[in-house]
Amino acid sequence: MGGAGSIERAFVPGVERLTFPLPTGPRHVHCYLLDGDEGRLLVDTGLGFPADERAWEGLEVDSIVLTHMHPDHVGGAERAAETTGARVHQLGLDYDQCVRVWGSADWPERMAGWFRAHGVPTPVADELIEQGHVVAPFIRFVREPRLLREGDRVDGWEVLWLPGHADGHVALLRDGVLVCGDVLLAGISPAVGLYPESRPDPLADYLSTLERIVELAPDVAYPGHGEPVREPAERARELVEHHCGRLEETRVALADEPRTGYEVSVALFGDELSPPLRRFAVAETLSHLEHLVFRGGAARSSDGSLAYTAA
Ligand SMILES: [Zn+2]
Repeated sequence: MGGAGSIERAFVPGVERLTFPLPTGPRHVHCYLLDGDEGRLLVDTGLGFPADERAWEGLEVDSIVLTHMHPDHVGGAERAAETTGARVHQLGLDYDQCVRVWGSADWPERMAGWFRAHGVPTPVADELIEQGHVVAPFIRFVREPRLLREGDRVDGWEVLWLPGHADGHVALLRDGVLVCGDVLLAGISPAVGLYPESRPDPLADYLSTLERIVELAPDVAYPGHGEPVREPAERARELVEHHCGRLEETRVALADEPRTGYEVSVALFGDELSPPLRRFAVAETLSHLEHLVFRGGAARSSDGSLAYTAA
């Protein structure tokens, strides 16, 4: 698994892409090397396989910016920082969640317990625990990064807080170029899931983020996976449409008797998903259910279980 990564030439002057293979879909992750006013920035660090570490050798980087705490973006941060000597930057909220998830030994158990409470069958939840413990040792994030806030600048690049795919997700903007992590992807809809100890309505966050991108109308967006997004505002509008459709499907899947997030996920995504895909499906379903609750299109069940009814 893993590989040394390869640097591709600039798409526009001052932007290069460094790609690492991933063992599971989407099978690769992109990091970016950006020219700043005074030095160079590295955006994201891959999953952190031992074979990936060679990529940092000889790389001249002055600052590392992490877009969000998902494993394929922060996993290589410690080695990248050690090898290059660059200071790591991360939004405060994102760093807090990073420590909570990757810095605690029992996160997979806590996550699985939360999924069971939403109706996920025990064997599926148990497999998530197992897989969580397989991934965790690779994830070497950096303690005490420089904490970012919306509107900060890192070497001339503006920091935008764009929550939704992750609560503390940031992107960098300069001269119409948006380096966007997983906020926008060209071919697939970025996952927007509800997870334990997260912001209450991640879909509302994401829809606001998409509206902001429509207003900003950058010339191009460079994402964490897949090809550059050539018309970011148009892509953002498509994703708003996608979620409006998914919200309606979610509303239709509810009834008078309570249904769990798991049951609704089966109605939306079928019953043949592998445990990791089921995890995404349930989290995605729950973000839509909670958004419906906030908008008045669904209600949390009054019987004390974590289940939902039609409003
Ligand atoms: Zn990603």
